[in-house]
Amino acid sequence: MSQIYNRVALIGLGLIAGSMAHAMRRADLAGEIVGTARSEESREIARRIGLCDRVTDTAAKAVQGADLVVLCVPVGAMGAVAREIAPHLAPGATITDVGSVKRAVVEAVAPHLPDHVEFIPGHPLAGTEHSGPESGFAELFDNRFCLLMPGEDTSPEAVAKLRGLWEGLGANVEEMDVDHHDLVLAVTSHVPHLIAYTMVGVADDLRRVTDSEVIKYSAAGFRDFTRIAASDPTMWRDVFLNNKEATLEILGRFTEELFALQRAIRTGHGEELFDYFTRTRAIRRGIIEAGQDTDAPDFGRGKDHGKAAS
Ligand code: NAP
Repeated sequence: MSQIYNRVALIGLGLIAGSMAHAMRRADLAGEIVGTARSEESREIARRIGLCDRVTDTAAKAVQGADLVVLCVPVGAMGAVAREIAPHLAPGATITDVGSVKRAVVEAVAPHLPDHVEFIPGHPLAGTEHSGPESGFAELFDNRFCLLMPGEDTSPEAVAKLRGLWEGLGANVEEMDVDHHDLVLAVTSHVPHLIAYTMVGVADDLRRVTDSEVIKYSAAGFRDFTRIAASDPTMWRDVFLNNKEATLEILGRFTEELFALQRAIRTGHGEELFDYFTRTRAIRRGIIEAGQDTDAPDFGRGKDHGKAAS
């Protein structure tokens, strides 16, 4: 694969940016990778492990001369970062982001950007519960979806280049409407995370059990919840605060279903439960057939670094 961008600036050097850096190197997609993180500690780690070709102390410096800028910070920090880098962006540069929520990011970022750049919001549906500059790995995006949300006036050439980059990183690229994205992700990622956080919280409240039995006898279902509930608190706080409407809508539907199942259990309606679980089992099969997870007994985490759509 040949180089698509001359200089890529990664703003934020955590799991997603780190994985992008590794995967860009794997396929030689960028002439130079420049990165920056908020803390001196993360910048030092990035320098020590050679994550980027160059690590700058500020985002303003990182974007200078870059033809692609990728915002890889928590959703709630995107607006402030966009304001900081705006005066330093090169004419013709493409600005994209990897945030898990899209409408709020578009509203926070777009007003700061000058007319001479292209803004193409994005979201790779891949992640793990780990964070920080040492958590990234080149395979994170392999065979995962990356959703792009170009505006009506975005140049097709800029979209084609960004699509080419993500394909080079291993992802399957699709375009999606911003609001539709937020609803779909509320169903597939945001509310499931909230449920996992709640379930682990409930177990924690039952101290007597958590202290010993829950950990000792931890079954696959609960272990999966604890893995998800170990995800970065800042990132997930920002996801819920910035995808409020869709999260509450899906949570409302979830609660209704939960009450229906609760009633079926109380009234002994086994057939209703059986039919429900038969329907949900078919969804699992569909995910495996689509290549988005494996059928392995460890849920594919062993050789897959615990990849999940986030
Ligand atoms: P991460 O590993 O926690 O890294 C976040 C980076 O952002 C760090 O370099 C951090 O700097 C920096 N940062 C944090 N707060 C900041 C602030 N207020 N201002 C400026 N910089 C700040 O996060 P990540 O998992 O890579 O996530 C990055 C983005 O990708 C988020 O928007 C998230 O929604 C999205 N995303 C995540 C996943 C996932 O599963 N993790 C999947 C898809 C998309 P320091 O290290 O110096 O604190």
